[in-house]
Amino acid sequence: MSTYNIAVLPGDGIGPEVTKEAVKVLKALERLDSSISFTFTEFPWNSEYYLQHQQMMPEDGLEQLQSFDSILFGAIGDARVPDQISIWQLIMPIRKQFQQFVNFRPVKRLKGIESPLKNDKPIDFVIIRENGEGEYSNIGGSMFAGEDREMAVQNTIMTRKGVTQIAEFAYQYARENNYTKVTNATKSNAIIHTMTFWDRIVEEVAAKYSDIDYERYYIDAIAAYFVQRPEDFQVVLASNLFGDILSDLGSAIVGGLGFAPSGNINPTREYPSMFEAVHGSAPDIAGKNIANPIAQIWSAALMLEHFGRRDLYEEILAAIEAVLEEKQVQTPDMGGNATTEEMGDAIIRKLG
Ligand code: ATP
Ligand code: MG
Repeated sequence: MSTYNIAVLPGDGIGPEVTKEAVKVLKALERLDSSISFTFTEFPWNSEYYLQHQQMMPEDGLEQLQSFDSILFGAIGDARVPDQISIWQLIMPIRKQFQQFVNFRPVKRLKGIESPLKNDKPIDFVIIRENGEGEYSNIGGSMFAGEDREMAVQNTIMTRKGVTQIAEFAYQYARENNYTKVTNATKSNAIIHTMTFWDRIVEEVAAKYSDIDYERYYIDAIAAYFVQRPEDFQVVLASNLFGDILSDLGSAIVGGLGFAPSGNINPTREYPSMFEAVHGSAPDIAGKNIANPIAQIWSAALMLEHFGRRDLYEEILAAIEAVLEEKQVQTPDMGGNATTEEMGDAIIRKLG
């Protein structure tokens, strides 16, 4: 039997509510499947913690997390704490220290879910977003404050190592999962230094995978194609900024944030990876037991896939789809009146 030690960071708002359901599903799975077990260790590092301690986590926070097999993360966000603090003091340090340079986001229309797109073609692809460098750098600055010539500069950093490793991950993932095509999201016609570099490195990697087709589109065109012909995509490889935007668009075409899971992955497995729903802390619905926990439960399933248990990933997804197809248990975002806990319970009943 394999035991996995999971660090749980429930976070703020609906984070704890949906994370509780994800842990509940994992515990149910553990009861049904004697080949796997978990330990869960909770860390209270959220905005409340910041307001008490003036920091998002203790000095040795990263050391405390390092020995875990994986991190299950709720959501961070609270009106009393600026976003920059929660992002730069908690999420970014975890991503950087644990070399989680892949942001992995399935875009899959589940059975029983209506897409705002007026067709019933299957949508089932993954966005592989570079997660460690690119446009989201803290290098830059502004000058001449208040003067007519006031200006700001934000630098994009792309490195051979960084682009190569994300492209390699995309191609490896494609090969291991029987995908036949990788789509490169670029804008090298307008961003002529970094994006041409990105294309060149991606194409060096692509050349090594002759069994997998390569295509390249500008980001603006891809945005339109996500709406016009999403069934054509398989693996979409994107930089940090482009991947961020495409991921939200991707979630919108498959039913919204309630159905958008993600993994921040360290492919070498040297450090823990982190799994979290794409949505935020949703303060408008927090504390009411009405958040849709599916994205977070799905994220926990991605964690099992990362552990090599594709079978358990599929088992959880099948249970979610079974509930969705029946249309009996639906949270308010889906037009129903089920609670967060009722959705978790319904999914558990379909397991096994
Ligand atoms: P953050 O800054 O934390 O990202 P946000 O306001 O940008 O917060 P979300 O917290 O993701 O974004 O919420 C966006 C909208 O989607 C809100 O109206 C919220 O209630 C809704 N929403 C987000 N997640 C869920 C969920 N799991 N179930 C139901 N509604 C949700
Ligand atoms: Mg948000």
